[in-house]
Amino acid sequence: MDLGLKHRTALVCAASAGLGYACAEALAREGAAVTITGRDAARLETAATSLRALGAEIRTAPGDITTEAGRAAALAACPSPDILVNNAGGPPPGNFRDFSEADWLSALNANLLTPIALIRAVLDGMIARNFGRIVNITSASVKSPIPDLPLSNTARTGLTGFVAGLSREAAQHNVTINNLLPGPFATDRQTKIAQAEAKRSGVTMQAAMAEREAANPARRFGRPEEFGAACAFLCSTHAGYIIGQNILLDGGASNSTM
Ligand code: NAP
Repeated sequence: MDLGLKHRTALVCAASAGLGYACAEALAREGAAVTITGRDAARLETAATSLRALGAEIRTAPGDITTEAGRAAALAACPSPDILVNNAGGPPPGNFRDFSEADWLSALNANLLTPIALIRAVLDGMIARNFGRIVNITSASVKSPIPDLPLSNTARTGLTGFVAGLSREAAQHNVTINNLLPGPFATDRQTKIAQAEAKRSGVTMQAAMAEREAANPARRFGRPEEFGAACAFLCSTHAGYIIGQNILLDGGASNSTM
């Protein structure tokens, strides 16, 4: 299927590794010109080199996307994106009693206010051009809260409410805003979560990872390329009638009828 992404421009945030990288790769494979961001400039350049090997036009914008300077750099490299993939690192796990106000503000900034700021920066241009695709990487935690991740559960649910409203306003202009909700995917983030679990339960990290895989109905972690493919479809010309949705990619882990 031709996704109609050739000559489209995409800004994919936090994309030197993991799910962001997988989205950038899937868009690049479809012929989009992609700008990727990340804090570690060397790691970002390595990712860009891999993406360029696919024949894609790739720009980099090193910086912390949760800061104004990082967002300005991203938008300078890709001023009028047709596609925006919002992503940033997830907040740390822990008991809510142990988090300071600064911890809460940091999580709200990274996983709620940053995507809103970027949407604000690009939305009107997309509306004027009558094409736009915005995909927010959130988490399965918005459907089913994850114990020990109160910062993530809270900040991402706030973004979900914002998107639910705004996406209905933007739809008439062929601008879609949707959320992709990862369950457990095999990325560095997953390793860190397993490390924390292993420490808490006094088991090896391998045992903690194996237990997590066995507990999933698919009996495995998701593959980042599966996530990237879903993102590319949501960004395609075919997905103009998918509005304000929260699409779970979790191997069936969230146990519900609908
Ligand atoms: P990851 O493997 O840790 O990758 C994170 C990527 O984001 C790296 O390229 C990192 O590069 C970049 N990054 C992190 N913070 C950044 C920032 N402030 N500014 C710019 N770039 C930043 O994470 P992931 O597994 O792909 O997860 C992506 C998102 O999905 C996270 O919010 C995570 O919490 C959420 N999620 C993941 C899973 C999962 O199973 N993987 C499940 C649910 C939710 P630098 O470090 O160089 O900046």
